[in-house]
Amino acid sequence: MEAVESELLKKAAREAAKASYSPYSHYPVGAAVLAEDGQIFSACNVESSTYGLSICAERNALTAAIAKGLRKFRALAVWSKNGATPCGACRQVIWELCGEIPIYIIDADGKEKCYISSVLLPDPFDEKKLRK
Ligand SMILES: [Zn+2]
Repeated sequence: MEAVESELLKKAAREAAKASYSPYSHYPVGAAVLAEDGQIFSACNVESSTYGLSICAERNALTAAIAKGLRKFRALAVWSKNGATPCGACRQVIWELCGEIPIYIIDADGKEKCYISSVLLPDPFDEKKLRK
């Protein structure tokens, strides 16, 4: 991935957090995914008063890309004020939709970490492996 692409991806995640609907947690999160063709899809977290129906920024960004017909992804970026890593549900969905990709974690101070999918979710549930 080119440096320009990763910078655009991280910027898109940071910008997406501004639209966060998080009246309960007051914890805005933005995520952006880079599709194989170079398109970037970004989204924020959207909470519900029932909490369990809240949807994370990571899954919102991925579902937005899937809804536009994209199926292959090269990288993901997640922005939050203190650089939180994706929750367990998102790690599973990232694995299923993206496979092994870099995941950039950015905080409000601009500090970043980068993980690959299998580090965040070692030995994942993988339906494709079950068919073998
Ligand atoms: Zn999540």
